[in-house]
Amino acid sequence: MSEDRHKLVSRDAPASLTLHRNLPLENACDVVVCGGGPSGLGAALAARRGALSVLLVEGQGQLGGMSTSGLVAQWLGGRSDDTRRWVVGGVFRRLALGAAEHGCAVIPTTNPNEKYQVHGWHKGQNEAGIPLDPFTLAGYLDDVVDEAGIDVLLHTQAVDVCVEDGRITHVILFNKSGLFAVPTRAVVDATGDADVAARSGCEFVKGRPEDGLMTPVTLQFHVDNVDQDALSEYIHKHDSPRFRELVAELRAAGEWPFDYEIFISVQLLEKGVMMINTPRLVGIDGTDGRSVTEGMIRGRREIYRLLEIAHKHFPGFAHARLKAIAPCLGVRETRRIVADTMLTVDDLRQGTRFEDTIGYSAYGWDLPDPKRPSYQPMWEGVAAPVHKVKKKPVTPIPYRIMLPQPVRNLICPGRAVSVERDALGPLRVMAPCFAMGEAAGQASQQVIREGVDYRDLDVSRLREELREHDAIVDWEN
Ligand SMILES: Cc1cc2nc3c(=O)[nH]c(=O)nc-3n(C[C@H](O)[C@H](O)[C@H](O)COP(=O)(O)OP(=O)(O)OC[C@H]3O[C@@H](n4cnc5c(N)ncnc54)[C@H](O)[C@@H]3O)c2cc1C
Repeated sequence: MSEDRHKLVSRDAPASLTLHRNLPLENACDVVVCGGGPSGLGAALAARRGALSVLLVEGQGQLGGMSTSGLVAQWLGGRSDDTRRWVVGGVFRRLALGAAEHGCAVIPTTNPNEKYQVHGWHKGQNEAGIPLDPFTLAGYLDDVVDEAGIDVLLHTQAVDVCVEDGRITHVILFNKSGLFAVPTRAVVDATGDADVAARSGCEFVKGRPEDGLMTPVTLQFHVDNVDQDALSEYIHKHDSPRFRELVAELRAAGEWPFDYEIFISVQLLEKGVMMINTPRLVGIDGTDGRSVTEGMIRGRREIYRLLEIAHKHFPGFAHARLKAIAPCLGVRETRRIVADTMLTVDDLRQGTRFEDTIGYSAYGWDLPDPKRPSYQPMWEGVAAPVHKVKKKPVTPIPYRIMLPQPVRNLICPGRAVSVERDALGPLRVMAPCFAMGEAAGQASQQVIREGVDYRDLDVSRLREELREHDAIVDWEN
């Protein structure tokens, strides 16, 4: 599949306009990183530590991607389930520890006597996650990239590229200044949606092979003033962290109007402040402007309705107050590039080892069904779900899944990497996205210094350089 360029197509009247414009040229840089989420931050920081000139371009008003703009306020996949070992090191571990030191994250342990207790969850991967305060995290990230000497443009979209002889020569950006072009030697597409790869004419796929449908989106929101003692008591008594039984009762009574059958609440830094990861909207395409608009509007409507129901029926939520609704839709899945290689479910089942491993994920299968938003096709059982396909606890990430074809100076870390669809679950969470971004940024140093293509660089040297920066590229399961 590839997208037509320079076309604004209305649904009813397909038509196109050829646009010729002279655009202002900005200063040239070594690398343009498009997208300032986990993968873009990892990439920009790793490229910059090698003294490359880096322009980091972010469509929203703050860095952090889903963790700030999407209010997805916990970094998962970076520590072992028992919380004893870091599985993702390097930039991710430094930022997590730095954010905790600055009071915008906590590093939980499973010790019940320690400060953080995940009310709403009481076992498993969420203790291993790193809960965040997205509002102060945004300021911390501003300082980190500023100190690193990275040139940043916020509220700026990467809208197009110029490609010559299989290489991107310019990235076309848009912000309040209008359209302009940045000459560059390499590009990191960290948009999560492979926007740059798609606009460069690279191959990609989207959604399920049989019908192209994608997993539901969620507009996240935060509440405060939750009585967590009441909440925790209910959850532990009923062993029901997602309120499935209560939701079923409400549905039977005609009081639950939504497609999903769960209510997920996660404590953030303070007791009583919670992230609600629940409105799950089917049929939204995160790469379609109209569909994203519909997702925001439907999402907000459902949040207000959901909160009314929670006030009335959910233990601990009687006086919960809406603290914030994400300014950006939470999109779990869109394009996946078709790279030199693809990480498959079978690789994870068999524990395949890769010579070009550049990082790991400690997360499991997690890609809700496009039509049944509370159902996980890779799990079985509801009360105590187990993985249908057994995999090792820690998943390796090969470098080559980040290389879109055929553009040679483009690399694509993060959520849009080349995986068999169900293998996206372990990789799409944020710690592994930081790891992929860091590898892409480190790789950019060889690309710029030695004039090689991303696919031709010396991968064992890349792995060695990552080790020198405390990234974890070796793991025994
Ligand atoms: C509802 C939901 C819940 C989730 N829960 C968790 C969780 O609890 N823990 C966890 O670790 N992960 C979770 N995830 C997954 C995780 O948040 C994402 O998969 C991850 O953030 C992807 O990282 P990324 O860097 O690839 O993309 P993003 O985090 O999406 O960052 C991409 C950035 O690029 C910007 N951008 C996009 N297009 C352009 C463009 N054309 N020009 C300029 N900028 C652009 C975006 O504004 C964004 O800031 C969740 C995801 C969702 C949607």
